[in-house]
Amino acid sequence: MRSALIEVLKCLRCGTDDLHFIIKKKDDLEVTQGSVTCRRCGLTYSIKDGILNCLVYSDSVVRAARRVYEKSKESLVKNDISPQKLAQREHLESNYRHDTVINFNELLLRLNAEQGWALDIGAGTCWTTAGLAGRGYRPVAIDISADNKLELGRQHFDKDIYFDRVLADVNHLPFRPEVFSLAFASAALHHSRNLDLSLSQIFRTMKSLGRLEIANEPVRGLAEAFQTNIGHLEGPDDVIEKHYGIRTWMKALERAGFAGRYLFPDNIRQRLATGGFIGRHKFYYLAGFTAKLYKFPWAKFILERILFYSGMHLFGLPLIYTGEKTPANQNLAGDNDGK
Ligand SMILES: [Zn+2]
Repeated sequence: MRSALIEVLKCLRCGTDDLHFIIKKKDDLEVTQGSVTCRRCGLTYSIKDGILNCLVYSDSVVRAARRVYEKSKESLVKNDISPQKLAQREHLESNYRHDTVINFNELLLRLNAEQGWALDIGAGTCWTTAGLAGRGYRPVAIDISADNKLELGRQHFDKDIYFDRVLADVNHLPFRPEVFSLAFASAALHHSRNLDLSLSQIFRTMKSLGRLEIANEPVRGLAEAFQTNIGHLEGPDDVIEKHYGIRTWMKALERAGFAGRYLFPDNIRQRLATGGFIGRHKFYYLAGFTAKLYKFPWAKFILERILFYSGMHLFGLPLIYTGEKTPANQNLAGDNDGK
């Protein structure tokens, strides 16, 4: 991390922003070893390999998930994949990686170039955080694990790309209120044990009218009740996987105080155009049939505009949401994180 991050941090225990930054070791990019200490309550957050550790309230769910990522790192070490390749997620299934990249690249096109602080929730190997930095933001990557995740962030750094990395739980965000111009999550929020709490924490740390962008979260369709394949699962059972229906997402986002819209996923659009569905995709045969119709402009219009929401309810396409923090609801969201 760099010292400027202090501008947006607060103590998780007492809530003060009166923090003391101690540098033990640094290189030409950032502080690699040191600590941040709260002047009021004395709690110390360590910095190791450039990553600030704010997991002071980690519960059993977070600890279980951290163990899964630790084990998964151990198994990957045997495969001898370079850190650069791991940082680009080349150890993941290529179609999944391709789909998520398509949807993220489309999101980058939607974003205006910005100078403000941005929060990348569940940033993993930080490939998205690097993309946000490339658009001019000052992003902060948070994740609950460094193993094969935040530690790989350094692979993305170059003379123009830098971001801070913080070990943190989205349900206990160590940030001051109203600091982020953008909050972003890609395939991360469905790992939260409490979507309402996560969204209220994100809301609190965002500036009024700040943007919330969500991509690649799995959405469960009603029709999936009748089939066993419920789509891609990222890890073993002890990482929480919650595949909500679109109604649950819509209600939760509205309750948290966000106003926005749901977009037709670009990865599905591209696969419809090329007929490139594979067995991994949900409703594989139906998707293949739909792709045959998709070449007709009228069918494309009906599918993307008229049938989009009913399709979401029934089949559950990946969630692509673009919204903003509505100022009207600001007073409703109190600072409720462990103070
Ligand atoms: Zn404190």
